Amino acid sequence: MKITQDFATTSACYKAGTTINPKGLMLHSVGVNQPDPKVFARIWKSSDDVCCHGVLGADGTVIQTLPWNWRGWHCGGSANGTHIGVEMTEPSTIRYTGGASFVDNNPTATKNFVMGTYKTAVELFAYLCKIYNLNPLSNGVIVSHSEGYKRGIASGHADVEHIWNKYGLTMDQFRKDVKSAISGGNTDPAPDIKPDVKPDSSYVVRISIDDLNIRTGPGTEYPVTGNYTGKGAFTITETNGNWGKLKSGAGWIYLAYAEKI
Ligand SMILES: [Zn+2]
Repeated sequence: MKITQDFATTSACYKAGTTINPKGLMLHSVGVNQPDPKVFARIWKSSDDVCCHGVLGADGTVIQTLPWNWRGWHCGGSANGTHIGVEMTEPSTIRYTGGASFVDNNPTATKNFVMGTYKTAVELFAYLCKIYNLNPLSNGVIVSHSEGYKRGIASGHADVEHIWNKYGLTMDQFRKDVKSAISGGNTDPAPDIKPDVKPDSSYVVRISIDDLNIRTGPGTEYPVTGNYTGKGAFTITETNGNWGKLKSGAGWIYLAYAEKI
């Protein structure tokens, strides 16, 4: 497994920037015969609705598209507030005929692909269980989208079992395999990327007066620096009460004279 990060920073979901305390992991399958994770990472960037935390391929590729501890829009239910959601891609050798039904044009290639994504998912979920100290065998911790539906925490979809059933793969076995991957220690060591990211809480304000003081801290008890912002638009990176910290590093300003834009 190799995780790379390509956050969907321009998606509505990312911009919402809500954090969660992950209590579980939900596994999805994309429901379209597109094997390349990069395609989904690209689509989510311009999405107004769906955005998962990551998408994985049959060759061990994982693209992380949201910080794991952000609220994803992956299941159309309350599990968005509790579960990290990851999509597995599907092989180009199948063709959907309506709903969750498909024809298989190359059963050997299809099976190899599905087994590949299964293996990647086991490794990724073991990795995430370790980060968030989750027990993969605990009730409701690792669920498929369709299991989420049965529990009333996700919308009515058939993934992932609609494709796994053909190969004797089950969520019960998956949870056990994740457990063995953790205890066997055969998950990749944590990649040298930070799993959690603080939401960017910066915003831009317009200032319409010439003589707004910049102070060294968030309050009138802090001395003025002797500089003014002047009129214009300024980025605030940190807020403390009615005070905002200028991105430039020049200091803090009183936000009563600033209009958020
Ligand atoms: Zn799904």
